[in-house]
Amino acid sequence: MQQFDLTGRVAVVTGANTGIGQGIALALAQAGADIAAVGRSEASETAAKVKAMGRRCELVSADLSSIAPVGDVIESVVDRLGRLDILVNNAGIIRRDDALDFSEADWDAVMDTNLKTLFFLSQAAARHMVGWSSQDGQRGKIINIASMLTFQGGIRVPSYTASKSGVGGLTKLMANEWAPRGINVNAIAPGYIATNNTAALQTDETRNRQIVERIPEGRWGRPEDIGGAAVFLASRAADYVQGQVLAVDGGWLAR
Ligand code: NAP
Repeated sequence: MQQFDLTGRVAVVTGANTGIGQGIALALAQAGADIAAVGRSEASETAAKVKAMGRRCELVSADLSSIAPVGDVIESVVDRLGRLDILVNNAGIIRRDDALDFSEADWDAVMDTNLKTLFFLSQAAARHMVGWSSQDGQRGKIINIASMLTFQGGIRVPSYTASKSGVGGLTKLMANEWAPRGINVNAIAPGYIATNNTAALQTDETRNRQIVERIPEGRWGRPEDIGGAAVFLASRAADYVQGQVLAVDGGWLAR
């Protein structure tokens, strides 16, 4: 299990107050990492749970709908926790409307949060990681949260599909450029996970039934279902894994 041990490592998780981000933060903490929970809503519940495991959890307030805070976020994490080993780009939003009616505002909001900030926060973290990764032999780890819509088209979510397809491409690009600089960049593509993001689908009886029927596991995923994949990609066990988008989807894509 030593390969999966994250003791002494510092993980930044964006959007860690709820849903998948919370599931990932708790799994990384359980594997030994200290956590910086970055987001616009205070992650107090996540912090209490991380601290109950004996790990540190610092709350870093930032609205990631623009790239304005990215430099300060990385600086603040390093100031408060002493280092930065792992970045999980989890914060994201979705807007639903017919493609014929879709607005520019809904396009920009989703692309800015899900894709533009993801890239520039990764850039800020990577600039920090390349500075020290050669010193202690520990590789930096960047994990992007992709989607089934990194692989599929979806319906009524044009900007979300564009952003998550972009996450797949950027994951490969960053891996290509930063692998030789001591950083692993990979992504996790969650299937249908019961969170705020999918509340509209869960409450629509017909869509809910159609979704569950199509998942080989026969149930919605839970935030904790994503944690194991995040621990793996953040750990030494994944030091030779680069540019992958790992689906954690109860078999959805296998159908
Ligand atoms: P969620 O419960 O809605 O969580 C989204 C997180 O992102 C929240 O912490 C949210 O903070 C944060 N966030 C959104 N906009 C932000 C901003 N401008 N600044 C800072 N933080 C912001 O949904 P989730 O399902 O856990 O989503 C997490 C990630 O997984 C997203 O990237 C989503 O696209 C992806 N994903 C989800 C599913 C699924 O089935 N649920 C499937 C595939 C991919 P607030 O609480 O303040 O809004």
